[in-house]
Amino acid sequence: MKTLLVLGAGTAGTIIANKMARKLSAKEWRIEIVDQDPVHYYQPGFLFMPFGVYSEKDVVKPKKRFISNKVNLRMGAIDRIDPDSKKVLLEDGAKLDYDLLVIATGTTPRPEETEGMEGDDWGRDAHEFYTFEGSSKLARRLKDWKGGRMVINVAEMPIKCPVAPLEFAFLADWWLTKNGLRDKTELSYVTPLSGAFTKPVATERLQHMLDDRRIHVETDFAIGSVDNDKKRIVSWDERSVDYDLLVSVPTNMGSDAIERSGLGDELNFVPTNKQTLQSLEHEDIFVIGDATDLPASKAGSVAHFEAEILEENLLAAATGQELEAKFDGHSNCFIETGYGKGMLIDFNYETEPLPGNFPIPSFGPMKLLKESRLNHWGKLMFRHVYWHALLPGLPLGIGPAMSLRGKQTNLLRNPTSLATAG
Ligand SMILES: Cc1cc2nc3c(=O)[nH]c(=O)nc-3n(C[C@H](O)[C@H](O)[C@H](O)COP(=O)(O)OP(=O)(O)OC[C@H]3O[C@@H](n4cnc5c(N)ncnc54)[C@H](O)[C@@H]3O)c2cc1C
Repeated sequence: MKTLLVLGAGTAGTIIANKMARKLSAKEWRIEIVDQDPVHYYQPGFLFMPFGVYSEKDVVKPKKRFISNKVNLRMGAIDRIDPDSKKVLLEDGAKLDYDLLVIATGTTPRPEETEGMEGDDWGRDAHEFYTFEGSSKLARRLKDWKGGRMVINVAEMPIKCPVAPLEFAFLADWWLTKNGLRDKTELSYVTPLSGAFTKPVATERLQHMLDDRRIHVETDFAIGSVDNDKKRIVSWDERSVDYDLLVSVPTNMGSDAIERSGLGDELNFVPTNKQTLQSLEHEDIFVIGDATDLPASKAGSVAHFEAEILEENLLAAATGQELEAKFDGHSNCFIETGYGKGMLIDFNYETEPLPGNFPIPSFGPMKLLKESRLNHWGKLMFRHVYWHALLPGLPLGIGPAMSLRGKQTNLLRNPTSLATAG
């Protein structure tokens, strides 16, 4: 009997374990998945909790409910991977053998990476919304908000769901307006990037939307420290931005177990073949989701597309065949823009987000890079799709490869014309 061992039962690990349970013969393969936390969090919901749109019941469910009964779910903290002996050591002393290993240990925010971020203001006037605890605390803080300087800051890239801080800014504008606090609040978006987003065409459009909402954007701001006494964030080039409420997206890093195993880069992300999802160092190790160092978005949608590729490549590896399935970096993401509207972006390694129709090229009904109510409803519906189709590893009707059909590819030659493009 051979073992497929999956490390991490978050979005990516759960999808791939469930898929492989349907594909591998139970007579030849046992599938085991390990995680330290019995709770599965719907992380996209953390964005909405501070504004009272979602509560705990919408985002927290037991992990075991979403894992096939053909998969052995083992609770335990992973200490390290020993690729030479093909074993994984748990902190409780257990040693797990594997024939094929999938690393799906994700990424978490690390406020301790920025000097002063975990100072006196942390949890009081300085918050994050990338964890359940952080988002819950921020929800309580916003209940007392009377106005002042609200600063949304991204510490450094890459972060998971790179649009989430922008969505936070748009939702804050909507929520403040709804509560009669917008004129009493200065809203700033402070980013290490040279524009609002990573991709030029989308940045052009998002910048207009931020301007329309009177959200000040401070670019190229590489945070060096948080000065709790003076209530300001300070960049390495000695610029500063004052806050009354700091909403930070701290440095995101891969699991410490990856560091202890000597398998990661400086942020503990695992060097991974960007097409086959095989580890660059060990041919019996594969990597999926936020744990990779791929130049794709760290997003649940990406984990879903990757899982379709990885399923094929794991089957090939299990039977000693060539890895033929290739991931193109496809990412598909709703961007909540407030006031009951949203945008949708669809892109891959090669092609940045463009306007157009999705998923039917001639018609839509979703419009890419354009605000609409339908996109907002798509974003809210995604929660149900996540629990009932995405985690079980069922097909969602959108293939892993990105299509150019229905997209305004002419804009790639002239991105500045985007502001007027429909
Ligand atoms: C605020 C926010 C908004 C988001 N919005 C969207 C969105 O709109 N659309 C979208 O597609 N994506 C969104 N995402 C991103 C999405 O949630 C992640 O990309 C996705 O969950 C990644 O899945 P993963 O399995 O790689 O990591 P995770 O789901 O984080 O799972 C990693 C698992 O590994 C376990 N683990 C780690 N280390 C150890 C260890 N040493 N021992 C045992 N277990 C360990 C953890 O407990 C965890 O269960 C958002 C994320 C956030 C924070």
